[in-house]
Amino acid sequence: ARNLVLVLGDQLDPQAAAFDDFDPSLDAVWMAEVDEESTHVWSHKQRIAVFLAAMRHFREQLRASGITVHYTQLTPEVTAKQPPSSLAHQLKMDLEQLRPAKLIVTKPGDHRVEQSLRAAADELPIPIEIREDRHFLSTPAEFAEHARGRKQLRMEFFYREMRRKTGYLMNGDQPEGGEWNYDSENREAFGKKGPPLLVAAPKLKHDALTEQVLTLVRTRFATHPGKLERFLWPVTREQALVLLEHFITHLLPQFGRYQDAMWTGQAKLFHSQISSAMNLKLLDPREVIEAAEQAYRRGDVELASAEGFIRQILGWREYVRGIYWLYMPEYLERNHLHATRTLPDFYWTGETPMRCLRETITQTLETGYAHHIQRLMVTGLFALLAGIRPQEVHAWYLAVYIDAIEWVELPNTLGMSQYADGGVMASKPYVATGKYIQRMSNYCSGCQFDPALSTGEKACPFTTLYWDFLMRHEALLKKNQRMSLQVKNLARLSSDDKQKIRDQAETFLRKLTPTNSSQPSNR
Ligand code: FAD
Ligand code: SF4
Repeated sequence: ARNLVLVLGDQLDPQAAAFDDFDPSLDAVWMAEVDEESTHVWSHKQRIAVFLAAMRHFREQLRASGITVHYTQLTPEVTAKQPPSSLAHQLKMDLEQLRPAKLIVTKPGDHRVEQSLRAAADELPIPIEIREDRHFLSTPAEFAEHARGRKQLRMEFFYREMRRKTGYLMNGDQPEGGEWNYDSENREAFGKKGPPLLVAAPKLKHDALTEQVLTLVRTRFATHPGKLERFLWPVTREQALVLLEHFITHLLPQFGRYQDAMWTGQAKLFHSQISSAMNLKLLDPREVIEAAEQAYRRGDVELASAEGFIRQILGWREYVRGIYWLYMPEYLERNHLHATRTLPDFYWTGETPMRCLRETITQTLETGYAHHIQRLMVTGLFALLAGIRPQEVHAWYLAVYIDAIEWVELPNTLGMSQYADGGVMASKPYVATGKYIQRMSNYCSGCQFDPALSTGEKACPFTTLYWDFLMRHEALLKKNQRMSLQVKNLARLSSDDKQKIRDQAETFLRKLTPTNSSQPSNR
């Protein structure tokens, strides 16, 4: 071949830059299923399945349009002929036979993968061209420009630039409705009655190709976390469009209002569940944003909901990617609060009496999904308060979520939820007592603990650990103006109260069972 276009598992878009000058009579595509991408963090079975099924469907689509695809497919069993492999290794083996003049790839979503592809190409040596990922509405270079000279980065300012640049929800040079952000109208809880009746999402049918992949994952990755019984994820563009349409019509009208609310047994609520489809590049963020804006312009949804949703994609999603490429690779090692504890074992099983964690983790293991507030204010908050080593928290999030790719997962986990980057992503640590969870969900009503109590047998561990966290980090937090109110409240506790909280926290933390170091999940 003249050019060999490398297509990674999260690059399933025939419009990607790597295909720009593709000539089917001269060029070919290379794709590979390799173990390493599922084992470098111990991936959830559904996460593995969604990647492999979407890749195989994309391969078929390319072949149907006359493109030659060199594709390595995993077999259900590890065999001598197919030992566990890595992308770089597989690529080197294939290149010896294919001998293309040049490699072309769209910028990967993972620093590690980009480095290993470069190294493999250098070794051979074959020139490699890494092209801009046009899926995104901003580039790493633009973000670096935005960041230059700023003492502190804030999503809100970046988001306004993106609104102006794209014209989304703009009225001339003014934001639609006069405000940039309508969150003051959003973020309600469900109250005692619970969520309003939801229209069920259409069930996506699995074809033979998807079934094949599910069987493969069941056997080859049998020891991996998570269940496969309820596999609900789109693996083709057509399926993703069905989910998007359902969301815009039935859920977006209430999205803003209930964005932060949680409810037992209900994972999706008013969320779109299209993150994995977007991250695999089955959907373009522009079409998603435009669908939401059009629903608002038609008068089908209020501005607060449309803006709140669009901000997640045009603002947060682009912003975290900018942070990732600006700070990698040193970002990966950050640990601003010097947290050293091992991740508790219950993160892999859901077995804990703390109901909020039990519900969120069980749901995560069953579906590969949790919405933003479950990730930030349940599993993330607990890890932050308990002082878990951020790199272990990161490995967990990257492993268990269906939409987890490092460019988006890492800044959200290490930065936003663990404050391990010292305030690059978030201006202050997101910390709260169990009362926050009580306000936003019904988890506490069925829990043996009481979110109002910080000591004693019924004390909610979140509440105990919250106060303990403030005491542990008081000197550091005092310097942060946005934390001053929270830190000031410490003065309301007597020294006796403080000692009791410290003792209770210590006893509780000592009893946590750490993830077994002999388990592959903690490699
Ligand atoms: P919706 O609530 O319907 O939101 C719509 C879309 O907005 C999402 O599909 C997503 O593309 C985008 N979005 C929303 N919030 C964010 C955000 N903070 N960063 C980037 N994009 C956002 N998102 C991932 O895509 N992959 C991850 O690995 C991931 N890890 C996370 C880890 C932690 C600790 C936290 C707090 C958040 C993480 N997020 C991640 C962001 C967010 O939780 C998910 O994007 C969202 O829950 C996906 O569900 P949804 O499609 O139903 O989202
Ligand atoms: Fe979670 Fe505490 Fe509420 Fe129990 S009482 S569900 S541990 S916040």
